[in-house]
Order: sequence, then structure tokens, then C-alpha cells
Amino acid sequence: MSTLYKLCIIILISVVSNNAQTEKFMAVTFDDLPFQQNRDYSAVEQLEFNKRIISHILQYDIPAVGFVNEGKLFDDDKIDSTKLDILKLWLDAGLELGNHTFSHPNINALPFEEYKADLLKGEKITRRLAEERNIKYEYFRHPYLRSGETEEIMLALKKFLKNNNYKEAPVTIDNSEWIFAFGYNKAFKENNIEMMKKLGTDYVDYMIEKIKYYEVQSQQLFNRNIKQVLLVHSNLLNADYFDELAEAIKNEGYEFVSMDEALQDEAYNSENNFVGKYGPSWIHRWALTKGVDKSFFNGEPKVPQYLKDYSGIQYE
Ligand SMILES: [Zn+2]
Repeated sequence: MSTLYKLCIIILISVVSNNAQTEKFMAVTFDDLPFQQNRDYSAVEQLEFNKRIISHILQYDIPAVGFVNEGKLFDDDKIDSTKLDILKLWLDAGLELGNHTFSHPNINALPFEEYKADLLKGEKITRRLAEERNIKYEYFRHPYLRSGETEEIMLALKKFLKNNNYKEAPVTIDNSEWIFAFGYNKAFKENNIEMMKKLGTDYVDYMIEKIKYYEVQSQQLFNRNIKQVLLVHSNLLNADYFDELAEAIKNEGYEFVSMDEALQDEAYNSENNFVGKYGPSWIHRWALTKGVDKSFFNGEPKVPQYLKDYSGIQYE
């Protein structure tokens, strides 16, 4: 073998292995459809904002999943046809929808029987709309990501979901986008253009910091960057800024994949015995189940203080 030939092989191998190391994948999910701040905007406005969100999703070719609270479709027991159109818009764009319960209950705050009833009530319209279009309907996303504060409830919910043919939709990149969205909404209502701009820009930076944090966590736990699942919401912030966020994520080296593809990563078969009052990232659930040192969780990016002050949301 000539020296030159050997050199070429070495270069080729290093290029291939480098690529293998830098491959990053992310699934994207939008919660609280038809719209997060349901009471603040008319159905027509909500439709308009969703159109913008969907156009960003399509621009970046993202096989996103939207999670629906069907309770938001109703006005005084009557279905609002414009809000129904929002769901059709998602499906007709080729996007999947999933169940996020009917009324977004906190699993720790009501009897489990009522929670289960609310969950099943949450699929009635969306499942039909999806199946009419031959789009599968199979994911469940826990409100507040909460999955039970006792082992009994945690296990009973898992069993209930399985018996009803639902797949849990985990989140690895958990974040406080909702606080940015709350502040952004307030700034919009106050016609504070400067604040909207600041929040939008800071939102994108904050989310990238959060993604990097979970990359480090993933490295610590799995020695690689697993296929990540991002959670954001259907809100005005994303109607205005999700395209910038998607661009920034792409610039971090990510390729957008479907939920199905992300879940094929064997990381999602990791043992998860998490029981607790709140709903952390699945990476933290696996880490806690494994019994990692407390220092594992250090360094999580927080929302800026000015946002806490402006939104009045001090806890995080
Ligand atoms: Zn939610």
C-alpha cells in the first residue's frame, strides 16, 4: 500500500468518524393546541398565529407533533369551528397530533379516576380528524409533564396508557419557554415593541443554552448526544420567533426528525422509575433512576431576572 493511499484512508476514516460524532437529531413538539393563551385571543387570531407557526415548521421541514387540549375547542359546550380549523390545518400540513388531555389537569390535584376520564375525553375529536386523513394518532403528552407523585399512580398511568394504545411522548429538552411566552404576550398587549424584540431575541439565545446544557447531560449519562425531544407551545412567541429558533438549532448542527425516529434511540428504553410532584426532563428522570450524584444537575440555564420581574413569574 502506498503512503499516499494510506494517508487517504486515514483522512477518509477521520472524516467519517468526525461526522458520526457531530450528527445531532431533534424531534420538536408543540403543546397546548389550539393555542396556549386561549382566553387572550379570538379564534380568528389563534388561527392566524397557528398559520405562522406551521409555516415556520414547514420552512424547516420539521415533522413536528402538536398536542391538543380539546377543552379549548369549546365555547359554552359548543365547538368553535375556527378552532377546529386550527387542528385541520396542522393535519393537512402533514403534521401529527397527539393527546394532551381535555382540560390540562394536574395529575396530583384530582382523583386518578377523573384524570383518566379527562384523558380519554381529550381524544374524541382529534383522533377522528387524524384517522380521517390516515394520519396516526398515538402519542400522549402529560400536562406539566407530571406523571404521578406516588409509585402507585405512576405505574397505574403507564399501564392505562398502554392499555389504551398510547405511547408516552417524553421531553428531553425541558425549558421555561412558557415564561418567555407569558412575558411576550404581556408586551404584545401593552404594545411594547421594544420588550417584544428583546424577549424574542433572548428567547432564542436561552433555548440554545438550554439545548447545550442537555447535550452535556446526555454526554454524562450516555457518552453521546442522544436523539433529543424539544418541548415548546403553540403561542404568539413561536408565531413570531420559531423560525429564528429553528435556524439557530440547525446552526448547532441538528437535523430535525420525527418523534418516531427519536424514540428509536435506545436511550428511551432506559429505566425510568421517576416519581415526583413536578415534571422534569426525561434525561433527569433516567439520571435520578440511575442514582447519579447531585452535581449532575448543576449549571442549568435560568430565565433572565428582568423577565421574572416583568412577567411576575418568580419561580422556575
Ligand atoms: Zn401543556
